[in-house]
Amino acid sequence: MTRPQPYWWAPAKFPDPASPSPTDATPSPAALPAECDVLVIGAGHTGLSAARTLASRGRSAVVLDKEVPGYGASSRNGGMIGGGHRLSVEQLESRFGAQVGHRMLKEAHVEALAFARSVIEDEGIDCDFKQTGRFRGLWLDSEYETSARELERLQAIFDLDAWMVPQARQREEVATDLYAGGTVYAAHGALNPAKYVLGLLAAARRAGAQVFGQTPATGVERSGSGFVVDTPAGKIRAGQVLVATNGYTDGALPWLRRRIVPIPSFIVATEELGENRLRDLFPTGRMVAESRERHCYFRPSPDYKRLIFGGRAAMFPAPDGLAQSELRRLMTEVFPQLGDVTFEHSWSGRTGFSFNFMPNVGERDGIWHAMGYSGSGNAMAPYLGHKVALQMLGDSEGDTAFTQTPFDGRFWHPGKPWFLPFADVFFRLRDRQANARKRK
Ligand SMILES: Cc1cc2nc3c(=O)[nH]c(=O)nc-3n(C[C@H](O)[C@H](O)[C@H](O)COP(=O)(O)OP(=O)(O)OC[C@H]3O[C@@H](n4cnc5c(N)ncnc54)[C@H](O)[C@@H]3O)c2cc1C
Repeated sequence: MTRPQPYWWAPAKFPDPASPSPTDATPSPAALPAECDVLVIGAGHTGLSAARTLASRGRSAVVLDKEVPGYGASSRNGGMIGGGHRLSVEQLESRFGAQVGHRMLKEAHVEALAFARSVIEDEGIDCDFKQTGRFRGLWLDSEYETSARELERLQAIFDLDAWMVPQARQREEVATDLYAGGTVYAAHGALNPAKYVLGLLAAARRAGAQVFGQTPATGVERSGSGFVVDTPAGKIRAGQVLVATNGYTDGALPWLRRRIVPIPSFIVATEELGENRLRDLFPTGRMVAESRERHCYFRPSPDYKRLIFGGRAAMFPAPDGLAQSELRRLMTEVFPQLGDVTFEHSWSGRTGFSFNFMPNVGERDGIWHAMGYSGSGNAMAPYLGHKVALQMLGDSEGDTAFTQTPFDGRFWHPGKPWFLPFADVFFRLRDRQANARKRK
């Protein structure tokens, strides 16, 4: 039978959300502090990293999560860690100017990953981290030349250990002929995201932060020079508030909710296929992602026994049966030899897209936020959590180019993302067009 929990949770001993451990269960009103310096809403990579930084600099930091800490995308993702950019170098330069554009690229490709690695190392987080590199498979032949040029431009801006792989040598990376070659990013890696977020939780608590699960923030109001945050277990007065809810942002924070589109991503983990079979599929052990718009991403499990395969099976919260059959179709397109494998785990999570596909750090009416990772946050979320915390402390080290990204809403997204089923149809048509071009 296919289990609906993320594959990562059992090896990480992630608490069962239905019966959380005593520290993560709903706190009694007496357990919640009446006040704190900083209240963080959301206990994922962003919120926990921010709390670690704030508490280690002497601030009393309280983190609230409406589920068990780590329950959001941070414990359910593909476990690929690296960096990248969705807008081209040219687009970034023309929108933001060369200086800011290049800074964004360097932060996205180099600094965020270096920060995440340093936290894993400094905090001794045992999360199966391995520097495997990542292969980005190109969907269309025409993308090979443009990707090679883009890589050259990037490497002229900063050191980036990456190279092109022509289609003739692609099977040295991954056992498929589906792609038109690709790019290898050598510094990227693999980890178990549930172990990673539990490691960040332990690090934040060690630094002195108080983290409460099963405690939604239901409202934030200004009060004097600070804020009062409502929860079902009582009110907390806070000098400052940081919102770190990304794709799980709810109606308690309407201004932010209008700026984030919660697009689900679906993943399956197969039955044990055996190490030899996995090594045939992934000879170098690299993480694999695709260049197509609704891209798939896949990898061996850390013990090299299963395939973990993710993708946008639908752009709305589709039922599990539909998601599984769509992922099976996509998986067998890449690896036709896996048609008969069974899925032991099938789950989903919410990515938080901004309308310009870039994260944003900022403050409005005194309430700070860091979010909009648009599907790639294992490095960026802890990095920007740290940066926003430094900004809240008034430390110039908190400077980041991601304060300069636009963070607008759209009049047709007033709250609930009613439009996702229509977006699904739109992107399916775009897929068909791209597939037709691929076959030419
Ligand atoms: C299926 C999937 C696969 C992905 N794969 C990858 C990958 O391989 N590599 C990569 O780099 N990135 C990947 N990502 C993206 C990455 O997981 C996220 O960008 C990152 O985890 C975001 O972290 P976060 O802390 O900002 O948000 P989250 O981890 O989503 O945490 C937000 C938290 O806020 C809480 N919350 C919401 N509202 C409230 C409230 N009112 N009160 C209290 N708490 C609240 C939620 O319960 C949740 O725990 C993937 C995402 C998904 C969903």
